[in-house]
This record gives sequence, structure tokens and C-alpha cells, in this order.
Amino acid sequence: MARRHRHSHQHYLEGQDERHLRQLTLIRDLQDAVGNGELWMAYQPKVDSRTGMVNQFEALMRWRHPSLGFVPPDEFIGLAERSGNIRMLSQWMLTHVCAQLQLWQQHGYHLSVAVNLSASDVMDPQLATHLANLLNRHQLSPEQLSLEVTESAVMQDVDTATATLQELNRLGLKIAIDDYGTGYSSLAQIKRLPVDELKIDKSFVLAIDSQKDDFTIVRSTIEMGHSLGLRLVAEGVENRASAELLSKLGCDYLQGYWIAKPMPSEALTDWLDNFIP
Ligand code: C2E
Ligand code: CA
Ligand code: CA
Ligand code: CA
Repeated sequence: MARRHRHSHQHYLEGQDERHLRQLTLIRDLQDAVGNGELWMAYQPKVDSRTGMVNQFEALMRWRHPSLGFVPPDEFIGLAERSGNIRMLSQWMLTHVCAQLQLWQQHGYHLSVAVNLSASDVMDPQLATHLANLLNRHQLSPEQLSLEVTESAVMQDVDTATATLQELNRLGLKIAIDDYGTGYSSLAQIKRLPVDELKIDKSFVLAIDSQKDDFTIVRSTIEMGHSLGLRLVAEGVENRASAELLSKLGCDYLQGYWIAKPMPSEALTDWLDNFIP
């Protein structure tokens, strides 16, 4: 008995060690990932629930590590945040996305992309200036780029975040609150920020067609959000039943595997050309 206990404890420690080693490796290699061309962006469409039209995409970062293979962003973004590498990743991402938008533009596709920002991006007093320069350099109009921030990122330092968001708003960039419903802030608090859009977290959306409670939460979020003048987006729309329910509830935009998975830029224009609303 005692022996078995010791054995399982040791096993647990080994698991911890392995995880720790992986994290250290990832943090170390993250610094070269940009230079080595191991990062790319995937784009996932958001569909207008009334018209079925698509001209908006969310940009999601991808990393293929040379020996560990595909590393999910939920893992490496958090590590980058904690190891002080996130601003470098965000800089690469913003430049890359703007260059891609310009390229699409030159091929006759006037598209608009939403990017994800971390807490430290929102705390960066240079962010607005940097974005203004990027838009200028790539000849983009501000409505082609929008920003997604989580409520927890904003709430880390509400005053600084509000100042940044106001500056971005003055530039004409739209701002969305991501993962809405997973934090502790109320809509009243969020409404004090210059926010245009709420993205209902996928944990409420995934089973909306079978879970009565999820349906009720989503319905009241849409109602309240609309009454405050916000645009509502549902992420994690995985089947037709959910898409139909959300459209009936008046959710403005739908995003999820039912419409399309995130795809590399080369696949996107093909997808658009074949997409029949
Ligand atoms: P997020 O911003 O909430 O992005 C939505 C996530 O849901 C994406 O995961 C997307 O691939 C996934 N998803 C989309 N449709 C469905 C669906 O129908 N069902 C399910 N189950 N999932 C769906 P992904 O790409 O793995 O990204 C995870 C998170 O990593 C993102 O969550 C975001 O917080 C972070 N992230 C990704 N790219 C960036 C980036 O460039 N910068 C920053 N700061 N964070 C990023
Ligand atoms: Ca997002
Ligand atoms: Ca989200
Ligand atoms: Ca998320």
C-alpha cells in the first residue's frame, strides 16, 4: 500500500518534470520561432447571420516547432505572456496581418481582419502609434483591422487599458470583448469602455442546441448587448441547429467549424471564391 502510494507520487513528479521541461524548451525556442519562419497565421471567417455574407476574419497564430510539432496557441501564447515574449509575437503578427491585408487588397479582395491582443499589448503606450503607422505603411483603412481583447486583460489595469482603447477607437479601429461571459465583469463595466462588439465565449455556444441553460444565457446576453448598442458574435458554432438558433436570437455574426475552420491565407481566397451564401 505504502509502496504503491510512493510509486504513484513519483509518477506524478515525473509528469511534472516533463511538463516543466517542455515549457522551458518552448520558451527558449519561441525567441527563434519568428526568425526561423516557424509561425504563420490562420484565418477563420465570421458570417453575417442575416445576409450570409463574409468579409470579416479572425487571425489566429500557428506555430510548428521543428521537433515538437504543432504547438497549440492556448499553450504558447500563455508562455509568451509569462516569459516576456508576447510583445515580440504581437509585433510580428500585426505586421504580418497588415502585409497580408494589403496583398489581398491588391488582388481585389477588400477584407477585414480581427486580431487578438494580450494584456501587455493593451498596456503598451506605443500600441496606437504603432498601429497607425502600420495602417499607413500598408495603405489600409482602419475598418480593415479590428482588435479582440479579453475582459480579464482589460481588468488587469482598467485605467491604462481604457486609455489605450480610447486612442485605438479614435483611430477608427473597432474593439471586441473576447470570451465574453467567462470573466467576472458586468456589462455595465464593459459599457464604460469604447467597445463595439461582444464575442460570446464558445463554452456557452457549443451545446446551445441541447443545453437549456446555455440557450438562456446566450439569449439574455444578446438581448442585453443589443440594448446597449453592441454587436454580438457567437464563436464555436459547430452545427446547423446552433447556427439557426443563434440567427433566430438575432446574433449578428457567427463563427465556428460549421462555417469554416481557421485556414492558411492561401486557402482563404479559394474558400471565398467557392463560398455561396
Ligand atoms: P480565441 O481568441 O477565443 O479564439 C477562438 C478559438 O476557438 C480558436 O482556437 C479557434 O480555432 C477555436 N474555434 C473556432 N471555431 C470553433 C468551433 O466551432 N469549435 C471549437 N471547439 N473551437 C473553435 P485557437 O486557434 O487554438 O486559439 C486559441 C486561443 O489562443 C485564442 O482563443 C486566443 O486567445 C489565443 N490566440 C490565438 N492567436 C493569437 C494571437 O495572434 N495573439 C494572441 N494574443 N492570442 C492568440
Ligand atoms: Ca479571439
Ligand atoms: Ca474567444
Ligand atoms: Ca479563448
